[in-house]
Amino acid sequence: MVAEIIINSSVKVLNRIFDYEIPENMNVQIGSRVFVQFGNKKVPDEGIVVGIKEKSEYKVKPILRLQEESIEKENIELAKWMAKRYICNVSDCLKLMLPPGTTSKNIVARVKEKCINLVTLAKDVDEIQEDIDNGKIKSEKQKNVLEFLINNENATVQDIELFTDASRSIVNTLIKNGYLEQVEQKVERNPFLHKVEKRTFDLNLTDEQKTALESIKEKGEYLLFGVTGSGKTEIYLQLIEKALKENKSSIMLVPEISLTPQTVDRFIARFGEEQIAVLHSKLSAGERFDQWNKIKDGRAKIIIGARSAIFAPAVNLGLIIIDEEHDESYKSEMTPRYDAKEVASFLAKQKEIPLVLGSATPDMNSYYKAQKGEITLLTLTKRANNASLPQVEIIDLRNELANGNKSMISKKLQEEIEKNLLVKKQTILFLNRRGFSTFIMCRDCGYTVKCKRCNITMTYHKNENKLKCHYCGYEENIVTECPDCHSKNIKYFGAGTQRLEDEVKSLFPDATTIRMDVDTVSKKNSHEEILDKFRNENIDILIGTQMVVKGHHFPNVTLVGVIAADSSLNLGDFKANEKTFQTLTQVAGRAGRGEYEGRVIVQTYNPDNYAIEYSKIQDYSLFYNTEIELRKQLKYPPFCDIIVIDMSAKNLAELQKVAKNLHTYLKTRVINEKFGLLLYSPVPCPVDKIKDRYRWRMIIKCKYDDRVNNLLTDALNEFIGMKTKTARVNIELNPNNMI
Ligand code: ADP
Ligand code: ZN
Ligand code: ZN
Repeated sequence: MVAEIIINSSVKVLNRIFDYEIPENMNVQIGSRVFVQFGNKKVPDEGIVVGIKEKSEYKVKPILRLQEESIEKENIELAKWMAKRYICNVSDCLKLMLPPGTTSKNIVARVKEKCINLVTLAKDVDEIQEDIDNGKIKSEKQKNVLEFLINNENATVQDIELFTDASRSIVNTLIKNGYLEQVEQKVERNPFLHKVEKRTFDLNLTDEQKTALESIKEKGEYLLFGVTGSGKTEIYLQLIEKALKENKSSIMLVPEISLTPQTVDRFIARFGEEQIAVLHSKLSAGERFDQWNKIKDGRAKIIIGARSAIFAPAVNLGLIIIDEEHDESYKSEMTPRYDAKEVASFLAKQKEIPLVLGSATPDMNSYYKAQKGEITLLTLTKRANNASLPQVEIIDLRNELANGNKSMISKKLQEEIEKNLLVKKQTILFLNRRGFSTFIMCRDCGYTVKCKRCNITMTYHKNENKLKCHYCGYEENIVTECPDCHSKNIKYFGAGTQRLEDEVKSLFPDATTIRMDVDTVSKKNSHEEILDKFRNENIDILIGTQMVVKGHHFPNVTLVGVIAADSSLNLGDFKANEKTFQTLTQVAGRAGRGEYEGRVIVQTYNPDNYAIEYSKIQDYSLFYNTEIELRKQLKYPPFCDIIVIDMSAKNLAELQKVAKNLHTYLKTRVINEKFGLLLYSPVPCPVDKIKDRYRWRMIIKCKYDDRVNNLLTDALNEFIGMKTKTARVNIELNPNNMI
């Protein structure tokens, strides 16, 4: 018999099936992990059996060795589907389904210290891969260590020793050569930070909750749409309990950032720690390995985790829940660039189990599907514990300037902060600052420059002093006078949290403040620690970016100030309004979750924008109806898909050549074969050079079907055929953002 094998490698040309002979007495099956001798290589490569057949048309070598671990047949199916849909290697997808600690030796690592040194990659993954591929790194042990860390972000030296058989000195050499670095981190082998003693029991459901719970049947996709506090989590808990009674496991995905002890504790309080596993990127490789085993053994029947937990080896999976389903973190921005929601949907169909998506502000695509009846809509309209939604007030910043207030904080917000300080209540100031986007706006009338072709806010590029559209590449000179009201009060947006903190300190010198953004949140200071400090030490004012928005519960916070709602309105992205509405609704949800009523102040130059207006009354339907019309007119998702072909190279001329050739290839086929799609010309990326690599991209708007999928796969093969020196091409389906 002959096995069809996929070599465990990210090298694009290896994304094929290779035949190997199955030795007489070797029990090889689909999903078996084996070692084979590949090409002229001295060291055996790992491979995964994806098919078995009578004989091969080639002369084939035998499989060398069979590993104990294997992969479920269903997972092979899933990996093949993913590789096709996301145009990547099957082995890249299979890796997500292997136990943490990819190599042959799966020994349980023991980490004793509370504070340990973690080793992480010091270079870009692609760069390391390149050095491995072109032989710059020769030592097999060094390669093993690097490959291990590419697959397991955080690992201790002990982890590395156990999983790869490399010694500390190999790690030290790699550190010396600049491939790795050491960081210190507090780690607990048991990811449950503290004991939860108090047990909770099923609550008596409200009528709405009851209807929703009873509607969720054996299989199918459901959208549970309910305002924050409407009791979605209680429904999840009771669904999981139902599954447990039938001896089935459940996977619940939550956004990475809200995978806090608070979230997990609610599940521990209901079901106890023994049958719960958590999976997320902050765990060390050893911890992840233990959690993985707990799931695989069937001990943990409740799996709570971030995106990649969808691949957990749940025994007898009976239910998938995706909470905050609109969250961006469900889409992977690394290869394989999968969408966990799509993967969940595939799994739910494959296993004939229900998939429940929950949100207070559903993704436009999900709600559209629900409207069309492709998924079942379940609505919760009331808050379960009778808490009232916070009062939202919109402040028109154009008036502030007219009244001589140049500060980032309006008079009204200043007054409200003062009131809060007096009664010792806490305040959150939220500054939306995504990506690198900066834009210019008239401070008198709120005018921003939009691309005439794409209706997208143009982004300011400092180096060239130009405005550019991130979709089509259209350029314009910057304006110094407002074309609408002729004011010369043009403002460049992009102010940071640091400046905001300075202003707060000078306005309220006696207040205690804490700042949370990418600069203050590092590996050492987790955002969890900052939030704990804010809560426990009763700090007056928390200043932060997106990170403060999600799923936290601060009973003492009664005031939330949104400093500039406009920065998310002008993202240079077709999702700008959707993201603004979601963010504002979520931020508002942070205020007044305790017994005190909450106030929210939203500062903006665009008080008439519908995303802002409807978030004030927290009316999702009104927002959705307006937005969906626009999407339809302008042909944006859900009415089409957006595909981004990312290209990069160390040499600009090389990159331009690749871009031109690929574009010509695609254009010719699109015309000849009458594809009904929109292919834009290649343009430099918004950030057009990262780590010495120039970056260009090409955008396609289309309905992503098999035909387009094949076209793109062919295009990628065309690129591989070009045999370029340093160029890389990545294809991404419906990316989170375009900046
Ligand atoms: P969501 O997940 O939609 O934000 P939760 O499930 O967290 O909502 O519920 C919000 C609050 O209401 C929680 O404190 C929860 O304990 C409470 N709650 C939920 N359902 C009920 C119910 N049926 N009866 C009483 N309180 C409830
Ligand atoms: Zn103006
Ligand atoms: Zn444009």
